[in-house]
Parts: sequence; structure tokens; C-alpha cells
Amino acid sequence: MNKSVDTEHVSECTVCGTTLIYGGTDKEQTCTFCGMLTYSPIYCPEGHFVCDTCHAEGALDFLNRLTETETSTDPIELVDRAMTHPSFKFHGPEHHSLVPAAILIAMKNRGVRRHDGSPITKDIILEGIRRGFKIPGGFCGYAGTCGACVGAGIALALYLDSTPKRATPRLQAHRTTSNALALSQDELIRCCKRATYYGLTAAIEVLKNDYNIDLGPVPSLQSCVHSERNPDCAMDECMYHVASMAT
Ligand SMILES: [Zn+2]
Ligand SMILES: [Zn+2]
Repeated sequence: MNKSVDTEHVSECTVCGTTLIYGGTDKEQTCTFCGMLTYSPIYCPEGHFVCDTCHAEGALDFLNRLTETETSTDPIELVDRAMTHPSFKFHGPEHHSLVPAAILIAMKNRGVRRHDGSPITKDIILEGIRRGFKIPGGFCGYAGTCGACVGAGIALALYLDSTPKRATPRLQAHRTTSNALALSQDELIRCCKRATYYGLTAAIEVLKNDYNIDLGPVPSLQSCVHSERNPDCAMDECMYHVASMAT
């Protein structure tokens, strides 16, 4: 595969390009760029470490800008466009923010209000982006949940104004994340694109089935346009992989 700007740093150190180690337990690490001391099991064997904020800062800036400029009503189109933005790494915690951003922006642009009748404001969408980003990179393998799947629950939580003390909204947020995680029981290694489609699917279905809110179809089978950039692609084991012509 030709190495282009788009394929840089897929699972490689942002500093030196060496393949990252996904260790079993945390190491104390200092971010090469900003100096922040943190703990993470993911590291470069050459000693570099890039914190989640430095890793995803450009992508988050991009998502934050979309809260003002984006006019799409189609969360799938929005997600696929964001995933090709130069700031978006192939895998990374920016996807945890992308799912709630895409769902809430599409709702806002369709004129959908929150369940209590209040508008979906820019601040609500920014809160979704912030909440998603609280979930660290690699959490899917280290915590038994997936940030992009939780992103679907975040979208529902903000739609319903869920809090820890509001039983039904909390249930619906859990249900949405749970449905996304049910899709994620595919026994494949992580792919933030696939996980984002699972999150979109769960949120779109709960909003449609339980609240009669139509955000269009869920991501189609065999529709992924990103697999060529992913050296870890599960190919035909992934429901979104486009079947190869040879088979
Ligand atoms: Zn390195
Ligand atoms: Zn940093």
C-alpha cells in the first residue's frame, strides 16, 4: 500500500512512525508534545507518547466548528466526511465524540427538538463532543466498553436530559449503548470506523423506534469506504467491508 498523508499514523507513533505497542497494563508516560504526565497502556517502543488531547486536538477543533457550520441532515454522510478530514486519525478517541456530534447535528438540522421541547443548541452538541472525549483511546480493549458505542448513549442522554437520578432517560441511554455493544460482539480487533457505524445504528434505531424521530437509514452492510486505509481491516469478517471482486 502506498503511504500517503491519509495512511500515516494508522497504528503508528505520531512522532517517529514506529508501530505502537498496545500493552496489557498502564505505564506512567509523559506526552512528547505537551509534557502532560499520564498513564496509558499504549506506547511507542522508542519512548514516545502522545496524549489523547494532542492526538485528537485538530479533529476536536474540526468537530467543534461543525456545530456552527454543518448543514447536513444525514449522520452517515457527516460521519464519512469527517473521517476523511486530514485531522482525523484512522483510529482514536475523536470517534467517541464523532458519534454524538453526528447524531445531534443531524437532529438539529432536521428541526428536531429535545424530548422536553427545548432546542438542540450548539452548546448541547459541544457537550456531546466533550462527553465523548472523556473516554480514552483504546478503552474498547481495556474496559469492556467501546467509546463510539458509548457515544450513542451520550446522544440519547443529551436528547432526553438524562442524569444519574432520572430513571427512564438513564435507562434509554444505557439501552442505546447496550444495543451498540451488542453489535460490537463480533470478536474482531478494534476498528473505530466499524464501531462508529455500530454507534450510529443503535442511536438511529432507538430514536426511530422509541421516539418516532427519523434520521434516515442505518449504515448499510458492505458500505465501508475506509477499509483500504486500514492495515488491520478484518475484511470480509466485518459486515461493513465491501466484498472483494475476486470472490
Ligand atoms: Zn515513536
Ligand atoms: Zn499532549
